[in-house]
Amino acid sequence: MDKFELRDKIVLVAGASSGIGAATVELLLGEGARVVAAARRMDRLQSLAKDRPGHCLPLQLDVADPASAASMIDRMPEGWRNIHGVVICAGHDVGGRARFDQADADTWTDIIDTNVNGTIRVCRAVIDQMAARGNGHIVTLGSTAGLRVYPGGSIYNASKFAVRAFTDGLRMDFAQTDIRVTEILPGLTRTEFAESRWGDGGKAQTFYDNAPGTLAPEDIADAILYAMTAPASVNVSQLLVEPTRV
Ligand code: NAP
Repeated sequence: MDKFELRDKIVLVAGASSGIGAATVELLLGEGARVVAAARRMDRLQSLAKDRPGHCLPLQLDVADPASAASMIDRMPEGWRNIHGVVICAGHDVGGRARFDQADADTWTDIIDTNVNGTIRVCRAVIDQMAARGNGHIVTLGSTAGLRVYPGGSIYNASKFAVRAFTDGLRMDFAQTDIRVTEILPGLTRTEFAESRWGDGGKAQTFYDNAPGTLAPEDIADAILYAMTAPASVNVSQLLVEPTRV
């Protein structure tokens, strides 16, 4: 079967300002897709979109803000609103890796709100047009943390288990259509994730350096591209990608 052609298709990457999202933007642009690069840090998105007018559109998006997510399509220029696919990389573990009683409850609420509700909000904002067309592609970012819990991970683990359940439910709801729903489950990947968790670049570096193996964000972007370019009749439902050494 022919691979799915992304040329001139519009794909929104939520959480495009660093790590897996930024690497995914580059690969999608390489395939000829037109990419809406969305996140909170506009300066990062503007650098990503620089010299790529018509191909990469920076868009301010806070998935933890219901109004920001709900208005995202309306805030795009007219020629950008026919969204073929979304890749939802927006997520964090700020204040995580701590025993449940030793972290700030507000921070933990924000992990759930961003990782779970944020994913749901982005899907809600694009699903009507996908349902009306009868096709599209939604890619969510789960994690090995959504398969196995670890000490100090209660809230982040809960958020990624929830992403998996939501993604499975979405896939079932649209199983009689040509809307494809994929969950990517990365293992440890060297991004800004650990630095944002602890607010400490040195600690993050040591954390990654002490791991037996790590992935690069491009490794996960490759997996996302594999799912998105699979033939239209193929739904890559889940992809678990881990470092060789764990
Ligand atoms: P990262 O480099 O820290 O990137 C996180 C991205 O999420 C940034 O672009 C950030 O942009 C965005 N984001 C955070 N909160 C947001 C909000 N409220 N609204 C919009 N965007 C928001 O980390 P990453 O490793 O690439 O993480 C991407 C996804 O992969 C996350 O869902 C993470 O849970 C998952 N994952 C990561 C690993 C890993 O080992 N790194 C493993 C498994 C799964 P702004 O700050 O500019 O908004």
